[in-house]
Amino acid sequence: MLDLNTPIEQLTSIGKKIAPKLKKLELYTAQDLLFYFPFRWEDWSQIKKIQNLEPNTTTTIQGKIELIQNKRSKWKKKLITESIIADDTGQIKSIWFNSPYLLQNLKPGDEIFLSGKIDYSRQEGLQFIHPNYEKITRGKNQTTHTARLVPIYSLTKNLTQKQLRYLISQTIKLTPQINDWLPPEIIQANQLISLPLAIKQIHFPDDKNFLNQALDRLKFNELFLIQLYAQLTRCEIAKLKAIQLKFHETETKTFVDSLPFKLTDAQRKAAWEILLDLQKNTPMNRLLEGDVGSGKTIVACLAILNSQANQAQTALMVPTEILAKQHFESISKLFAAWDVKIGLLTNSLQATNFSTQSITKTKIHKLITTGELDLIIGTHSLIQDKVIFNNLGLIILDEQHRFGVSQRQKLKNKNLQSKIKNQKSPIPHLLSMTATPIPRSLALTVYGDLDLSIIDQMPKGRKKIITKIIPPEHRPSIYQFVAEQIQQGRQVFIICPLIDPSDKLGVKAVKDEYKKLDQEIFPDIPIGLLHGQLKSQAKEKVMSDFLKNKTKILVSTPVIEVGIDVPNASLMLIESAERFGLSQLHQFRGRVGRGQHQSYCLLFTESENMETIKRLQTLAESSNGFELAERDLEFRGPGEIYGVKQSGFNDRLKVAKLTDYLIIRQTKKAVDQLLTLDPKLTQHPSLKQQLDKFHQSIHLE
Ligand code: ADP
Ligand code: MG
Repeated sequence: MLDLNTPIEQLTSIGKKIAPKLKKLELYTAQDLLFYFPFRWEDWSQIKKIQNLEPNTTTTIQGKIELIQNKRSKWKKKLITESIIADDTGQIKSIWFNSPYLLQNLKPGDEIFLSGKIDYSRQEGLQFIHPNYEKITRGKNQTTHTARLVPIYSLTKNLTQKQLRYLISQTIKLTPQINDWLPPEIIQANQLISLPLAIKQIHFPDDKNFLNQALDRLKFNELFLIQLYAQLTRCEIAKLKAIQLKFHETETKTFVDSLPFKLTDAQRKAAWEILLDLQKNTPMNRLLEGDVGSGKTIVACLAILNSQANQAQTALMVPTEILAKQHFESISKLFAAWDVKIGLLTNSLQATNFSTQSITKTKIHKLITTGELDLIIGTHSLIQDKVIFNNLGLIILDEQHRFGVSQRQKLKNKNLQSKIKNQKSPIPHLLSMTATPIPRSLALTVYGDLDLSIIDQMPKGRKKIITKIIPPEHRPSIYQFVAEQIQQGRQVFIICPLIDPSDKLGVKAVKDEYKKLDQEIFPDIPIGLLHGQLKSQAKEKVMSDFLKNKTKILVSTPVIEVGIDVPNASLMLIESAERFGLSQLHQFRGRVGRGQHQSYCLLFTESENMETIKRLQTLAESSNGFELAERDLEFRGPGEIYGVKQSGFNDRLKVAKLTDYLIIRQTKKAVDQLLTLDPKLTQHPSLKQQLDKFHQSIHLE
């Protein structure tokens, strides 16, 4: 007996044959196959008469084979199979390439369907070029490859649509065994079709209407789980105890007054939202979104100051050592007049702000445990090492998106009280910061478990970064400009999309580009090369050489984007700019204009496509990250918004899009109603099980 868990090898002989390829797609069982959805459907449902066929269309005919034979084509000596098919209105020729075996299957007199492209040449007239074919056998009234909406799947090498489609068609009979985990009342209220039917229809839709219903049902599934997960996470966090960090008004005011500038209204508002959260006895779970340079660090410092004033510690976690060091230096300066003891802890760097002497890791660990350090800045090792905090009240993450409830739970045990006295210790508040502006509507879905603060305003008096699109013929004069900038003491970033020159789309590969610049164009200028294939130590070395002004040009793949601060850099060149989304280009641009020098962002593109130029022009015209993210939504869809990709949620959305607002709203409502009635899902065991699976998939990331 076959069931959903039957390994693919045991599903007919074709299953056995293509199993190794399917494993490459991470498909192992019948169930995996059924949940491997097509990414589009060829509409071959209309059957046309041969006399009505038109050139350069794709279509289906039904006819009888009059003749079929193999031959060599005259010019290229290719093996082709040629056939004449007739219906009651006429005849048409069809040819296939490299398929001599067709002769064993298709014989004159056979009734067949052909679906595919009709070509026209003066010599041959109309003909089918390598169409899908399917014999019409009596008793079988469902087609698989022709004369219907035909599913198209993503494939891997040496796997054909036909093989995969056939295998899935043989598996479809198992759909009734699929467990529909969505509660019936929700299915009904939202007029959804059942999951087994949806799975059948997503592969082999009876018609477009059914296909849409299947899509709606599967989108609903995905968005519902995300919302449910987010809501339950919120509930779980609300049950946890946090240290109440009282608002110290005088200190906060004095600190703000001591700054050499006035806070923007947006900074004030965000800070206030955070400080209110910190006073609660449940942990804060907040995302602070603000463009590069919008001043998130200061806002974080207000939270740090209040944590310190409450005798609690703060951990500030960043993705790289360089970023940790930069934060350590700039925050130490901000707190210069304050009694905030700051430590730096990464794999290779340790320091404090109250002693210039070098310090060991062990000593830093000790200072953390005794509570002598108020703020510890570091990389992920801060929570993974054997670091034991004295009284950790607040965690701040800079540019690291995922941080789940379980990681937070772990941190609870890293406080000293729980270690020695085995006491229950409170959970730290969490503030996550990101410079990748996701429009609020999307953020609510992607980060539904977080509260959101937005800094949508830049400090006054920022110099605008001059942004221009550069056509290929102006390249030499731009290189001239690069040389001038360097002569004036400035530094230059050059971003290229990919590493390997194997890319066929004419993309500037970073290694080639580096070689060309280093050997031909700027032989006398020291140039650094940064890309994702370098080991992290090598990466840090390249970055720090640039930071120390040892190298003047840094050629890099997009790995550069995480918040590095090189105030001396004034020029950003981006190769094949059309390959990037606007919000990502905006991220790159944020690497310059951080000092007092007039800065430039120049976009190379060879594209002459008006849409593309228009899109890039938007970047030249706007310096507002949120606005650009909205434009990305318009131009390229939500998957292209930089932060959405990074969040991991997008990968989980196989069918739904973050712009499916209607279904997002429906699922939100459904989740709210469900949790009001059954907050622990005790009455919905199979939903609970599905949610656990979802949960696991998040934690595997
Ligand atoms: P980001 O949001 O990218 O982390 P930072 O916090 O690093 O930005 O701030 C960028 C620069 O702007 C810093 O040099 C900071 O001192 C300065 N800054 C922050 N807030 C203001 C403000 N309200 N007015 C003027 N300059 C500010
Ligand atoms: Mg920052």
